[in-house]
Amino acid sequence: TASLPADMTSSEVLDGVTNVIAVASGKGGVGKSTVSVNLAAGLADMGADVGLFDADIYGPSVPHMLGADERAGATDDDRIEPPEKHGLKLMSIDFLLGDDAPVIWRGPMVHNLLTELFEDVAWGDLDYMIVDLPPGTGDAQLTLLQTVPVTGAVVVTTPQDVAVADARKGLDMFGEHETPVLGIVENMGTFRCPDCDSTHDIFGTGGGETLAKEADLPFLGSIPLDPEVREHGDSGAPIVRAEGATGDAFREFAATTAD
Ligand code: ADP
Repeated sequence: TASLPADMTSSEVLDGVTNVIAVASGKGGVGKSTVSVNLAAGLADMGADVGLFDADIYGPSVPHMLGADERAGATDDDRIEPPEKHGLKLMSIDFLLGDDAPVIWRGPMVHNLLTELFEDVAWGDLDYMIVDLPPGTGDAQLTLLQTVPVTGAVVVTTPQDVAVADARKGLDMFGEHETPVLGIVENMGTFRCPDCDSTHDIFGTGGGETLAKEADLPFLGSIPLDPEVREHGDSGAPIVRAEGATGDAFREFAATTAD
């Protein structure tokens, strides 16, 4: 069970945060962190105050994707000060441990760490906090759902059947916890060849939209498979701030999610 201090109820955690959006996926490697980073930056570009919490403690990639190698500081009242980068308040286990430390903790430790981080970080007033969950339906997801008043979840899938099947399990988990799902976003969709300008559906087509229809949820958009997404991720610059069709797709997705 969550180890909140006796004088604190779960609704007081993240008191100043209007919307907590969890970004989830059934499978790893489908682009959940990429979606989290670009959703956060896209919402900030629309004028919102945004925090991004990297809860993927076994494979934190938010710091890399935002070129953030900071260490967390402390506030006057001894809370953890989230570093700011790209106009976002950030928190990741990497800011506390350093990025070379492997995380080999068991479930209860994960639970305690996440609970403490949710309570101890001085997020201040935010319109949105985006939470990049680890893939799957494990301890971190349950801790989040038990500890934090999640406004809604965004589920990321590729068009491929096996990713869609795993995303469906994620939907079931949110359903069991009565957490609303804001919708499905499909990543690694149609690839447009820069040389011949023809399109290729490398991971198949339509999986995200089919899942959204089947679950009666909004479809939040399809992000193309595009080498520039990886390049922007590796150079620490969110592609939602770049010109072009892929940046457009991320901007549309952020606007649709904000609705
Ligand atoms: P997850 O968080 O689901 O494990 P990531 O966001 O870390 O996935 O993405 C996995 C890899 O795929 C990263 O190298 C990322 O840059 C790359 N990637 C993600 N989305 C796309 C895309 N639409 N096109 C090309 N590469 C992508």
